[in-house]
Amino acid sequence: MLLKHTTAKEIDRKALTINPAKTCQPIGAMYAAFGIHGCLPHSHGSQGCCSYHRSALTRHFKEPIVASTSSFSEGSSVFGGSANLVQSIETIFSVYEPEVIAVHTTCLSETIGDDLTQIVSKAAEEGKIPEGKQVIYCNTPSYVGSHITGYANQVAAMVKFFSTATLKKRNVVNLVAGWMEPSDMREIKRIASVMEARTLMFPDMTDVLDTPLTGKYEMYPKGGCTTEELKTTGDSKFTIGLGEYSTNTACVALDNKCKVKFEITDIPIGLKATDRFVTALSRHANVPVPESISAERGRLIDLIADNQKYFYGKRVALWGDPDTLIPLCEFLVSMDMRPVYVVSGTPGKPFEERLKVILKDIPEAKFKGGELADMFQMHQWIKQEGVDLLIGNTYGKYIARDEDLPFVRYGFPIADRPGHNFFPKTGYVGATNLAIQILNAFMDHMDRTSPDEKVEFQL
Ligand code: SF4
Repeated sequence: MLLKHTTAKEIDRKALTINPAKTCQPIGAMYAAFGIHGCLPHSHGSQGCCSYHRSALTRHFKEPIVASTSSFSEGSSVFGGSANLVQSIETIFSVYEPEVIAVHTTCLSETIGDDLTQIVSKAAEEGKIPEGKQVIYCNTPSYVGSHITGYANQVAAMVKFFSTATLKKRNVVNLVAGWMEPSDMREIKRIASVMEARTLMFPDMTDVLDTPLTGKYEMYPKGGCTTEELKTTGDSKFTIGLGEYSTNTACVALDNKCKVKFEITDIPIGLKATDRFVTALSRHANVPVPESISAERGRLIDLIADNQKYFYGKRVALWGDPDTLIPLCEFLVSMDMRPVYVVSGTPGKPFEERLKVILKDIPEAKFKGGELADMFQMHQWIKQEGVDLLIGNTYGKYIARDEDLPFVRYGFPIADRPGHNFFPKTGYVGATNLAIQILNAFMDHMDRTSPDEKVEFQL
């Protein structure tokens, strides 16, 4: 209903974006900061931005998202927010006692031109940063990039401020986690542990944004990569970055700073991307792939083979983040599905380059990345020639309703369904979860829309 007036006819737009497939840079920086143990994210800007970023994360994770703000007034908006940030740092350390404050900027402080290096140095010179505590920072102007850019910038800041090379190399492989759910991180760590690979994941949101309810509020839950662990990343023997858009900057920074070589692989979503990740981990950690992991792979293939008739030829429209969409499209193609419309608001060349290869046998496929890629246009494509399935975040529910389509929620934000922070979509087990979710969406839709005489007991 809400989108029923979307027209099939496209008008060439040069500047206007309607329903963008992305959100604001600082949200990514704030999310990444939770991957450090004992860290309080700090938004250097006005309260409104910080409230929005916190609520966007709270609505997705269903956890209290704690973050502080420099709380700009009219005065700081005109003359700069240096005094606000110095005061904030002093107050935060004395009242909330974090190990680390992770500062990110907003459109406002970027437009003023606040210099975080100078301001944080001033705070240190004035003794506002207690011994053993740390303030890290990154720039996240939201008029460029997306939440993925902000995430990447904050992860790179972890390398810049913590990673240290000593002469003692450690037999450890760094796993730099791209934007994914804590459940996905937990699954990747489980795979590494089953393979007996010595790894260190950062950032690590497990046991931070998926904590059990104990009746006792912990401002800094037990999870997250500790500052001591982050320092040792400079001594690791290798780094695997999971997702080019969200981890490449950090991997390059770690190589430049500490000479830790790296390989970027996709986030292990689906069969082939998981194969590549497991192979890379096996090679760089020098461990074999155990039988139990091969069995997980075999069960996934069995599920796909058993349900081939439901997957075959199905046309799919997707939207979201490039690091997710690239392996996800590859997974759908490997199940003989047809990802025909794909949009991502995050700018960058690899998205279109990779999809060109992955979708080469689907000549009707349309894909678009960057500022002008939006869900409005994707909906127009659907109006022109329909699809069988939608995969994306909650913003797609209006299209699903308007077109009466099966809809699998995937990505950020998911505000209207539980489960995404419980059931992983990474690894072979995660791919099995995802394939089941897709099948159930098709079967629920068939049961609901079939005429009485066509309703089948057995599907
Ligand atoms: S002003 Fe900028 S940083 Fe603040 S909410 Fe809007 S886009 Fe995000």
